[in-house]
Amino acid sequence: AILADQIAAGEVVERPASVVKELVENAIDAQSTQIDINIEDAGLKKIEIIDDGIGIEHDDVKIAFKRHATSKINDQKNLFMVRSLGFRGEALPSIASVSDVHLKTSTGDEGTQIHIKGGKIEDIKPSDSRRGTSICVENLFFNTPARLKYMKSLRTELSQISDIVDRLAIGHPDIAFSLVHNHKEILRTSGRGQLKQVIGDIYGAKNLKKIIKISNSDNDFTINGYVSLPELTRSARSHITINLNGRYIKNYSLVKAITDGYGSKLMVGRYPIAVLNIELNPILTDVNVHPTKQTVRISKEEQLCNLVAKTIYDTIYKENL
Ligand code: ADP
Ligand code: MG
Repeated sequence: AILADQIAAGEVVERPASVVKELVENAIDAQSTQIDINIEDAGLKKIEIIDDGIGIEHDDVKIAFKRHATSKINDQKNLFMVRSLGFRGEALPSIASVSDVHLKTSTGDEGTQIHIKGGKIEDIKPSDSRRGTSICVENLFFNTPARLKYMKSLRTELSQISDIVDRLAIGHPDIAFSLVHNHKEILRTSGRGQLKQVIGDIYGAKNLKKIIKISNSDNDFTINGYVSLPELTRSARSHITINLNGRYIKNYSLVKAITDGYGSKLMVGRYPIAVLNIELNPILTDVNVHPTKQTVRISKEEQLCNLVAKTIYDTIYKENL
């Protein structure tokens, strides 16, 4: 079973940032209002996530670390039909099979703490009853040296972590996030529910004057979000965040639609800061393509891309110049 978990880990847990993503998504699914993320040495030494969510019942703690144990819907073929981010029940067993995990959780009354190392339960006992869950992942990939060898520099791994936390914070303005690396604070959001404020927390409050709202819809799609004016540019596309029905996705055609509307074709190597939230009928999305759930196919994609490009172009060049 541990071997199967390690094989699954190869897909789900590629690097420290994937661990952060899975654990933060679990905290989001648990209806947390505050999620604190503590990282040491770009996550290779330690990843600690503390939430104030619903917690896990004592009897369910061991089960949560079993493969395909999910308290969320698991016969769901289309992940965009559900609002919860997890549904496969793969993350916890995968992570625990390649690291040293301490988890403490409580639903408000009795609490539980468990220690699992390399997929083996070392210890499980009662603990205090602060509602929520804290999970600490240490020595990631200690027993899979081949995987460890593939890690890039600490700087690269940390920037991947910071990137995913930014995107999750953007997708959840109503949750207060903090990200601390080696005792230094990298991000803090207020959780007061304003997307624009989160964008300011990440990209600098002084830039907000140059970031404008976009909003439009047609029969199939509703889009809204923010895009920077051409006077505020970035040299990489990585400052573009796309959420589909509340879920962060990667989609090259949509990124291209955003940069087309922004005018990147004329301003070579200049890209906007942008957040695009798309709402659509889940029927228009394809079933999950990949275990990490980020790459997505959309029917009527061309129609959507045209809407996005036109809305951004019109908003920047017709209404604001
Ligand atoms: P999934 O998220 O796909 O259901 P995971 O392996 O990520 O699978 O988690 C397994 C189960 O453990 C979840 O379904 C949930 O019931 C529980 N769980 C994990 N993390 C948390 C958390 N932070 N708060 C509450 N429950 C959690
Ligand atoms: Mg999960």
